[in-house]
Amino acid sequence: MFLRVAIPIPSDRTFLYAVPEALAGDIAIGKRVLVPLGKKLRTGYILEKTAEASGIDIKDIIEILDREPLLHEEDIQFYRWVADYYFYPLGKMLGEVLPAGGERKSERWVMLAPGGDRCEMTGREGTLSPLQRKIVELLVRYPRGVSVNKLCSALGRQELRAELRILRDRNILRSEDRLPGPQLAPRRERFVNLRDCWPAEVKTTEKQLSLIRFIEQYGEVPMSTLRKTFGDCSALVKGLLKKGIITLSEREVHRRPGPAPELGAPGGSFVLNDAQRSALRKILKDVAAQRFSPVVLHGVTGSGKTEVYLRVIGETLRRGGGVIVLVPEIALTPQLLHRFQERFGDREIAVLHSGIAKAVRYDQWRRIAGGDVRIVLGARSALFAPVRDLKLIVVDEEHDSSYKQEDHMRYHARDLALVKAKLAGAVVVLGSATPGIQTCFNVRHRRYRYLTMKERVERRPMPSVEIVDMRGEKGQGGQGPAPVLSRALGEAIGQTLTAGNQTLLFLNRRGFHTFMHCADCGHVFKCLNCDLTLTYHRDVGSLKCHYCDFTVLTPGSCPRCRSRHIAGYGLGTERLEAEVKMLFPEARIARMDSDAMTAAGAQERILRALDRREIDILVGTQMITKGHDFPGITLVGVISADMALNMPDFRAAERAFQILTQVSGRGGRGDLPGRVFIQTFNPEHYAIRCAQAQDYGKFYDQELPLRQALNYPPFSRIVKLILSGLHREDGQASVERLGKIARDAAAGLGGLAVEVVGPAEAPLSRIKGRYRWQLLIKGRDSRVLHDLVREILARTAGEPIDIKIDVDPVNFM
Ligand SMILES: [Zn+2]
Ligand SMILES: [Zn+2]
Repeated sequence: MFLRVAIPIPSDRTFLYAVPEALAGDIAIGKRVLVPLGKKLRTGYILEKTAEASGIDIKDIIEILDREPLLHEEDIQFYRWVADYYFYPLGKMLGEVLPAGGERKSERWVMLAPGGDRCEMTGREGTLSPLQRKIVELLVRYPRGVSVNKLCSALGRQELRAELRILRDRNILRSEDRLPGPQLAPRRERFVNLRDCWPAEVKTTEKQLSLIRFIEQYGEVPMSTLRKTFGDCSALVKGLLKKGIITLSEREVHRRPGPAPELGAPGGSFVLNDAQRSALRKILKDVAAQRFSPVVLHGVTGSGKTEVYLRVIGETLRRGGGVIVLVPEIALTPQLLHRFQERFGDREIAVLHSGIAKAVRYDQWRRIAGGDVRIVLGARSALFAPVRDLKLIVVDEEHDSSYKQEDHMRYHARDLALVKAKLAGAVVVLGSATPGIQTCFNVRHRRYRYLTMKERVERRPMPSVEIVDMRGEKGQGGQGPAPVLSRALGEAIGQTLTAGNQTLLFLNRRGFHTFMHCADCGHVFKCLNCDLTLTYHRDVGSLKCHYCDFTVLTPGSCPRCRSRHIAGYGLGTERLEAEVKMLFPEARIARMDSDAMTAAGAQERILRALDRREIDILVGTQMITKGHDFPGITLVGVISADMALNMPDFRAAERAFQILTQVSGRGGRGDLPGRVFIQTFNPEHYAIRCAQAQDYGKFYDQELPLRQALNYPPFSRIVKLILSGLHREDGQASVERLGKIARDAAAGLGGLAVEVVGPAEAPLSRIKGRYRWQLLIKGRDSRVLHDLVREILARTAGEPIDIKIDVDPVNFM
């Protein structure tokens, strides 16, 4: 028997291995194996079994790393599709998508050669570079050696590997490959049980008796619990075992995210309104039909979409199907999880997102693959979970940009949800108050079923939205820049405070000032690694780069002219908070953004305080726009609608419309009607006007012709090539060669099939020390685009630039 194996390396190849007799019985597709690759040992994933193999020198696999498969054959079909579509090596993708834990690979270690430590005494010392001497000193302290990876992170030098080679050539050190054990293993636990009956004449001690009583009370008890209660009780247990009173058994236990919730009686007494009931009925029809059907659930904010999801999920489970529910990362709150657990029970649900501990993720993944868990709730990566008999995928807030991954494999989880559902023959529900233009386009072309819920639950009114024209606002004394809060919004905050209600102020930029400069010579403080201004964070007294985290203490003087007149400009949430505090000193004010929310549970605490009305005004970024329901919030202020509008991106209007509609929807969730103020310098812009009217259809009708005129999606597809290099000139030359190849290749296709835009310097022209360019390839036919990209890649192999591919890009910075 032979196996086709994918290995997490940057190569599109998969590899063939033979199976030794002794391991043949345990082979299954989806298990991981330890295999030799070159001189190293690596973890690979079994994709296929084959009886024949041509080729010479096929090596044996060394070990099988899993008891049960981590994925199924259907999953592999899906992963292959994804790898192909996004130009990403299958093995590398599996390495990123599958949970860490259990995999193994050999590592290079270095240690001093015999006599190597004496190089200093033998007079050879003078010939050592300072870095070489550091390495030798370190190795003297670790006679058994240090892994090269550890050494690199300890000494943090790029040229380290070259130095190691020199030291090895001079016989000062030697190296070898070692195979560390797996990082994580399944956790096993021993359980103590009472035998049904034991001989009455057996005598027990006082201590033994209390242990027996304990087990009688609780039934099967894990050893760890006994130890907690009785201290070290292994002798005690041994004694009882000998007397035949108890039995010991061992089995795997699953690590879980946090303690089990305390659940009340399952909710579900909600009465659906007509719109909900009608939507539910139609989706259930699709569920019953058991085939691929895409459904868009377009419900205004507060229309009760989650309740519809929960009922559809319940019905899918009843029919024996598995379910994946995707929500934007920041909407994955304990409240939401609790709502699911209450409805379906804790044991039915696995949660997958980036904040989950490795060991827990590993265990949950195996429970999903084994079919023990039928609902997976998570952020975008949960889509890759190997759910058995998948019959339903829900993508909540389908328009949300967090479904797009912007590094490693640049995929879009909403798009992939459709692919996966199609392969599995499942229903996919895309829910949103502001469906993406792409989604709506598919609805209009009758590719998706469209269901709408136009009313809020319990007939709560939609908030009234006012647009505040900031061009008419005057600064202090009628001069200077416009104030942070317009008069209208300021007054509304005052009234809301007086009425004892709550206010939400939204500003999508962190920090205090967005840039700082020297008032005398104009020097602007920029990041050393990126071509970007540094943001002033007053909380921590430093300037930070929001792209690479480069941080410096706030300088007291200008590095160029020594002037001490350093001034900050631009508005961030931190400054907004300070201004609001000054204007409303009596109000209780809190801030929610990623700077303020670094401590574990900080977001939880703020949401709870908001719920208990211990906060009057909450200032925040996008974090405050998602999903939370607070009846006390009657006022929402958007400090600047212009930031989103002015992005250099063809989706800027769409995103502005979505964000304004979503933020506005936070108001008036209780019995009180909500008011919304949108401050802007572009009061006539259609995105703002349509958000004011909460009129999605009108926005769509205005936006679509613009897209068509410029041949942007949904009228075309785009593949973006992100090109980067460490040197500007070399990079530029290489980028130009690549551009020519791309245009020639496109011309070869004849006429209008494909349009090549660029290459041009990226709007963020330098990030993390690398110069950046981008090239866009536009066309109607995805297959033609893919073939073209493949040709470009083949013809530019060896160019001294890094090429990353972003299919259906969302970010054009
Ligand atoms: Zn200066
Ligand atoms: Zn930076």
